[in-house]
Formats: sequence, C-alpha cells, structure tokens
Amino acid sequence: MFDVASNLRKVSAELPEGVKLVAVSKFHPKEYIEAAYNEGQRVFGESHEQELSRKVEQLPRDIEWHFIGHLQTNKVKYIAPFISMIEAVDSFKLLKEINKQALKNNRIINVLLELHIAEEETKYGFSLDACRSLLQGDEWRQFTNVHISGLMMMASNTDDREQIRREMLRAAEFFDEVKQTFFADDPEFKERSWGMSNDYPIAIECRSTMVRVGTAIFGPRVY
Ligand SMILES: *Cc1c(COP(=O)(O)O)cnc(C)c1O
Repeated sequence: MFDVASNLRKVSAELPEGVKLVAVSKFHPKEYIEAAYNEGQRVFGESHEQELSRKVEQLPRDIEWHFIGHLQTNKVKYIAPFISMIEAVDSFKLLKEINKQALKNNRIINVLLELHIAEEETKYGFSLDACRSLLQGDEWRQFTNVHISGLMMMASNTDDREQIRREMLRAAEFFDEVKQTFFADDPEFKERSWGMSNDYPIAIECRSTMVRVGTAIFGPRVY
C-alpha cells in the first residue's frame, strides 16, 4: 500500500488551522480509508454514489462523507440518509431534490454551490451570473432542509500557477460578494472549497477553508 499514514501526516501538517482536509478516497479500497482513519482522519470525499454507498456499509459510522462529484438528481435519495455535505451542487433542480430527500429523512443537508470559473468546457458548475440569479430568486429560501454552507470550485488543470491563482482569487472575491449580499446574517455560510493535490498550497493562499486532496494522500487512482 502507498504510505497513506505518512502522506496524510505530511499534508495535514501543511494546513493552517481552520482549513479542513477532505481526504478524497474515490477509486481506493476501504483498507486505504482505514489507514487514514487510524491516523485520525474523519472526513472523506467520494464522487460515485454506488461506490460511496458500498463503502459506508463497510466503514466506521463516525466518518463524515462528502459527495464531491457531479450528482444526478435520481441518485440523491440513496445518499440523503447519511451524507454530511454535498459539495458540488450545480443546478437549481439538484438543490430542490436534495431538499426533498433531506425532508424525507428528517435531516438538514449541508451543500456548497459549485462555481464554474476554470477555462475548461467540460467542468460542471454555475457561472457567476447563474449563481447570482439563483440566489436572487427567493425559492431557495423556502428549502427548509438544505443549508447552503459556501462555495466550491476546481481550478483549471494546468501547470500555469498564475492562472490557478487568478481563478481561485476570483472565487474568493465572489464568495465575499455572495456572503455580503445574501448570507450576511448566516455565520454558517463560511466554506470555500478549493485546492486539490496539485494546487492546495495555492488554494490556502487564496483563502480556502476546505481542501480536497486525493492523490497526495492515497497515490494514483486505478480506474
Ligand atoms: C478527484 C477529485 C479531487 C481530488 O483530486 P486529487 O488530484 O487526486 O487530489 C478533488 N476534487 C474533486 C471534485 C475531485 O473529483
């Protein structure tokens, strides 16, 4: 096994206080998650519903699972009973469905709105304008069982550090705008989820509160 414990210690040591580590365990076997768990890690990120549901059955109950991938609305019902956070809400329809399933389970589910800032066409997420319009509408305020905790984004997959930094700073600026305009009275709107194995040190400089790190902890994924 890749030396999960020592990688985890190394990454954790680089994170300032207040930055939460989501250990991205997608495509890795449960033994890898157990190794990280035994080092004290409790927050894990997965991006496929079936894989996640299978792992949840086999692993300790006190793990906080974050869904970090694109989630189809018809899959929400399977994870609604246990998911801690759905990080990549990229449509109003999905937000509405999460509220509906959370209500059925008598829970409040925390979510992040995913922004599309990267200069790549394949990525999901709201444009800044689409995100503004969603929040300007009043419908989301009626969703009693979903709580918007902040914003999430993925920077472009590039070696150009300055481009990554620009994109993350744009997200941080937009966070301030949205916070001020729509969430000024909600102290729990506070998360800025950016930074992955390649770029989490930049993300920290760009005021990330939550980094999602897979490869740097668990090694390369075997698809
Ligand atoms: C897979 C994934 C990650 C982790 O990527 P690494 O490069 O392995 O750290 C982070 N965020 C999202 C949304 C992912 O899908």
